[in-house]
Formats: sequence, C-alpha cells, structure tokens
Amino acid sequence: MALLDSVIKNVYLFHRNGTPLLDVPLDASNKLRPETIKGMFERLFDAIDEVFTELGHTDIRSVTVNDGLLVYKVQDPFLFTVYTNRPKYEEFARYMVEQVEYEFSRVYSDIPRLGTSEVYESHFDPFEARIREIYETLARLYQDYPKLMAFLPTFVPLFRLNEVLSLGLDIIAGYPHDTIKLVRQLNPLFSDAPELIDAIARTIGRYSGCEIAKRHFEPSLVRNQSDVLHLLNEISVTKIDESNEVFDIVLCPVCRNRVSEKPICQFFSGFIEGVLDNPGISVEETACKATGAQSCRFKLNMS
Ligand SMILES: [Zn+2]
Repeated sequence: MALLDSVIKNVYLFHRNGTPLLDVPLDASNKLRPETIKGMFERLFDAIDEVFTELGHTDIRSVTVNDGLLVYKVQDPFLFTVYTNRPKYEEFARYMVEQVEYEFSRVYSDIPRLGTSEVYESHFDPFEARIREIYETLARLYQDYPKLMAFLPTFVPLFRLNEVLSLGLDIIAGYPHDTIKLVRQLNPLFSDAPELIDAIARTIGRYSGCEIAKRHFEPSLVRNQSDVLHLLNEISVTKIDESNEVFDIVLCPVCRNRVSEKPICQFFSGFIEGVLDNPGISVEETACKATGAQSCRFKLNMS
C-alpha cells in the first residue's frame, strides 16, 4: 500500500462538548506533539461552533491547519474528524470521514438513547480496530481502482463498494455479450438498499463505460459522441439526434418489462458519461420506456 501509506494521519472522535472520545493514529511515524494537536483543534472548534448551531447541518467540511487539513463531519452530538497532511488527498479524506461516521452510527445505534454521562471514552475503544479496517479497505480500493472511487457520486457504504466493484469488473469483462444480463442483476442485488440503487447503477455505468472505452479506442485520443454510439450499439440499437446531444435507446434492455414513475436507466446515463470521461459533461435520462415513453433518451448537458 505504498502509495497511500500515511495519507491519513489520524482519525478523531469528539463529543460536542469538546471531550475527545477516540484518537486513532493511522500512520506509525506520526509524532505530532500534543500542543500541535491542541492548536489544530482550537481552529477546528471555532468553525464547529458555528456548524453545530446550523440546524440539521450534515455536510462534510474542512479547515486548513498549519501543515495539513482537518476534514470533519458533524452528527450531533459527535464530531468525526480526519487529519491528513497531504491536502491533495482531500477527496480520500472525505470518503474516510463519511465511512467512519456511517459505520459508527451503525455500530452505536443505541447512542441516542444513552445519557451524556454514559458516553465516555472507553465505550468507543472497540471501534478503533474498525477504523483501521475501514482505512485499509478504502486505501486498497483507492489505489487499485482510482477511477471507481473518482466516479462515486454519493456515499456508498464500504461493504457495498466491493459488490459494486465486482459487478463493474464483470460487466467490463463481459462486454458486450453479457452486459445486459449483468446490468439487470443490479436491482435484485441491491433490493435491500433501494435508496442506493440510482447512485450505484450510475457509478457502475461510468466505471465500466470508461474502462470499456479505454480498451476499444486509442487511450490518448479524446472520445466523442460517435464513440459512445459505437459502444452502445453493441449492446442495443441506439440513435443519436442531429444536435449530437441526445442518445435514443430504442428497445432499452435495462428497463424492459419494468414500470416506474421516474426514469430508471441510470446505468446508461453513467455509461455515456464514462465513455466521454469529461467532467464538463453530465448525462440525464429525459424519457424512459419504464414510464411509458417510446424510448429511453439520454441528453448531454455541457457545463
Ligand atoms: Zn429507461
């Protein structure tokens, strides 16, 4: 894990009253002096004071400290903080803080019922090992599959990431013959997490679109709409309108025999984005056969 070794220095958990509940050093060479840590957190707590007073605030934020970055997330009464001294890994630090917060809420789901006096430091000691596991898993994924991580549009729990990855790899390996069969496994596979389906389908689409395009076209060339059309036509009959901005999948295999109130073919939205691999272009499904439309239509939005 050389690349990501020591990217994250520490993970801290605080109570909103300022009590430190956990300090997990993830880098063995980390030798911060106590007064450095204290100085860092004074800056953070100034910011946090404001954050706590903003009702319902759950964003991830960060503050710059002398030699790095503190990335934090509040879930009242807790403050989850990740410290990195390599600001270019802020995105990774954000993943880390989200995963830690999610896992913590899962493991300590009884917390809201506890009184403040019961929320003491040693209560959370067992969680330290879990934090280390999260870091190792995330760092490995980030290192081996940076594109997958870069494409994740929203939070996906760690235990789901491996499933997302393995389905994505199968789709890439199985293109074009098995693509549809595999994509149609998405819904059953994630039926227990309906709120994640859209994000996961789009992520898998983007990841596989990007990787498949890399294998089919000269990697150094910028990809365009005709490349998208070429790859989509291998899976299903696809047309493009004269403005070059709308793809029309006539007999969409993803939503075949499905009925929905809103478009459900996020896999293809993601796939088109992944092939184009241009952060300035996003794709929106503006019509979907599942909602009764003639075909599934995907519109490019340029920013
Ligand atoms: Zn559709």
